[in-house]
Amino acid sequence: MGVNANRLTRTGQIAPVASLLPGSLAFEGERRRPGGSAARVVRSIDIMARGSGRFVISLDFELHWGVRDHSTVEQYRENLLGVREAIPAMLDLFRRYETRATWATVGMLYAESKQQLLEWLPSRKPRYADRALSPYEAIEREVGDDETADPFHFAPSLIRKIAATPGQELGTHTFSHFYCLEAGQTAEDFEADLRAAQRASAGFHEPPRSIVFPRNQLNPAYLSVLDRCGIVAMRGNGEHWAYEARPYAEESPARRAMRLLDAYAPIVSTTRSIHRSPGKGPTDVPASVFFRPFNKRLARAEPVRLLRIETAMTRAAREGGLFHLWWHPHNFGANLRENLANLGRILEHGRALDRRYGFASSTMAEAAN
Ligand SMILES: [Zn+2]
Repeated sequence: MGVNANRLTRTGQIAPVASLLPGSLAFEGERRRPGGSAARVVRSIDIMARGSGRFVISLDFELHWGVRDHSTVEQYRENLLGVREAIPAMLDLFRRYETRATWATVGMLYAESKQQLLEWLPSRKPRYADRALSPYEAIEREVGDDETADPFHFAPSLIRKIAATPGQELGTHTFSHFYCLEAGQTAEDFEADLRAAQRASAGFHEPPRSIVFPRNQLNPAYLSVLDRCGIVAMRGNGEHWAYEARPYAEESPARRAMRLLDAYAPIVSTTRSIHRSPGKGPTDVPASVFFRPFNKRLARAEPVRLLRIETAMTRAAREGGLFHLWWHPHNFGANLRENLANLGRILEHGRALDRRYGFASSTMAEAAN
């Protein structure tokens, strides 16, 4: 069912009746009281309420390409190596809870060797004013021969594992972790980058249909490029000032502090709707919440953070809206046991909401349809 149909359940006269019924009756009444007139009412509400909410998960899969301007491999080694264990474990959980996910993957990770990576480089490259943002000059110096020699810059074996797991979509996180709002790059550079990403993934899967912008730098002037490249879904940002797309230099401690607080207390609404504007770029499947990694120093507040997410999911499911959770595999690279336990709890809650409200687990491309 399309997401537009949700509003029927929210604005129709039946909705208040549903809200008068205890939850268990509203959705199990048919089984408990077959044949009665109350059961018929309940059944009609049930049918109208089900199948409208969406639970979307997206992962920004980038390894060192996503953090290279602020951390060396040595500084972030534990997390980057931990991804080798974290991704198969996450895939096991997705399989167990029948959860679908979009893996927005940096194109450079698909290369089997340094030589292949060099063959795939785009014809034109961004000339960022901040030269540290460009990965191209560093390839000769920083990148090893292949995935065995350099597990920080190559990941074809992990990409194959993702592709082989049911319900998983491989989207793009651009070829080079491209920054669409930084000074010194153009729409033409961006298109050349996306074409390189298509070339890189060609031996693995169909051309990517979903995109996650590095550093969430959605540039509205580039939407027609996405149309031309066959992208149908993109992850937009929340409308709140703490989440709007900004160049990196305009990030502020206030924005970071607000986002941190928001992870524990419901400050910003997280129920989203899916925005379609045919002919004007991909469908926006906006982010709700960043799934923060387990933090030892804040360990006692973990239940509060998880409850914040679960409550937000329940609300989106009840309202027939979108809840879109995202993170990076390298966030799970340390404290894997705790992070997996947290994820399992969230996925179990998602399954329960699906049974009760029809809160369908969807990839970004499916949600955009
Ligand atoms: Zn990234």
